[in-house]
Amino acid sequence: MDHFEYRDGQLMAEDVALADIAESVGTPVYVYSSATLKRHFRVFREAFAGVNPLICFAVKANSNQAVLKTLAREGAGADVVSLGELMRATNAGIPGERIVFSGVGKTEEEMEAALAAGIKQFSVESEAELEALNLVAGRVGKIAPVSIRVNPDVDAMTHAKISTGKSENKFGIAWTRADAVYARIKELPHVKAVAVNLHIGSQLTKLEPFREAFERVLGLVRDLRAKGHDIRHVDLGGGLGIPYDPEAATPPAPAAYGEMILEVMGDMDCDIILEPGRLIAGNAGVLLTRTIYVKTGENRTFYILDAAMNDLARPAMYDAYHGIVPVAEPAGSEKMTADFVGPVCESSDVFAKDRKTAPLEAGDLVAIKSAGAYGAVMASTYNSRPLVPEVLVDGERFAVIRKRQTLQELLSLDSVPSWLED
Ligand SMILES: *Cc1c(COP(=O)(O)O)cnc(C)c1O
Repeated sequence: MDHFEYRDGQLMAEDVALADIAESVGTPVYVYSSATLKRHFRVFREAFAGVNPLICFAVKANSNQAVLKTLAREGAGADVVSLGELMRATNAGIPGERIVFSGVGKTEEEMEAALAAGIKQFSVESEAELEALNLVAGRVGKIAPVSIRVNPDVDAMTHAKISTGKSENKFGIAWTRADAVYARIKELPHVKAVAVNLHIGSQLTKLEPFREAFERVLGLVRDLRAKGHDIRHVDLGGGLGIPYDPEAATPPAPAAYGEMILEVMGDMDCDIILEPGRLIAGNAGVLLTRTIYVKTGENRTFYILDAAMNDLARPAMYDAYHGIVPVAEPAGSEKMTADFVGPVCESSDVFAKDRKTAPLEAGDLVAIKSAGAYGAVMASTYNSRPLVPEVLVDGERFAVIRKRQTLQELLSLDSVPSWLED
């Protein structure tokens, strides 16, 4: 459930009319709902009633510091994948002991910063990284808490570009190698094993792949403990899908996911870390955009929007479905079929093809729904289009939480070498 609903003919974000935000901030603009972010976080936490997992929000889904701070106040930790994300998380007040660091290519600089921040866990993704981490930790006189990200070799049954738990993916260490790698950790003086982790993919719409992977990993935890490794927690990653397309199968509810996890965990005395991203932020945001032109082709109608694939890459990148709704509630029930496209010079700059929609006119505002995760964070300046602003709504108030990049700022990043100066 989200807090974007029509009231008196107007699409609202909580108690703020989206039209008012467009008027004040311009379009395109990302708009997030605090109440929805908090609600999703609470529903997820409540799915683990009785146990108290550490919920590390996957910062790569939405890294705005105001969003992180909203979640931090609810008790969220952070799953980060770069120094930039680590800085965003700590700036938002998330303490090191609630931060885990994932990613296949951590640099020495990133390791040093994470050690200084006293993070909870390095999710190590290769043997080479383990050796490097041991050296860096030794140099700064620390012991790095390590979890090996195991690749359980299961099919997440999601889009190929967001599937991470098959042996052909670059992520993690083959679960059959885990034994040897944990044995190596014991030999190294500046790392200690604290956990096992996994993350098999994103936008999963079935529980079975999760269950299969979790069972595999928990079996591993039992073996490792039997061999004397002090494994205190398991980190089960993120990946639970959200409803995007009302006509597609509904993903499992957080409650069913939580129940399955508690069942698989059984009486294993082990703390749980979870890393949801999309589930918390996805349906808590919309991309608000204006129709520039209505172009009637030979046998199609194109609604040309002022937002484009550089602002929201998911449709072009993953063939993702996003609901698109007019901001002014349609008076009648008339429907037609149209393509929603952006102005970028790429045929893939299409938000929706053959979409049933109320008829629109040039100037009409529309909201591209479910854009709170993997939206603004993936934006680029392709076609020299400035990064779009972000707005956070809280009840009746709203604030710009990232200002629109100006063309001056964008252009001034370039410099012309002396030999080209006139
Ligand atoms: C991307 C990612 C997540 C979050 O995935 P969602 O599908 O957004 O829940 C969690 N953990 C790791 C390691 C990731 O790479």
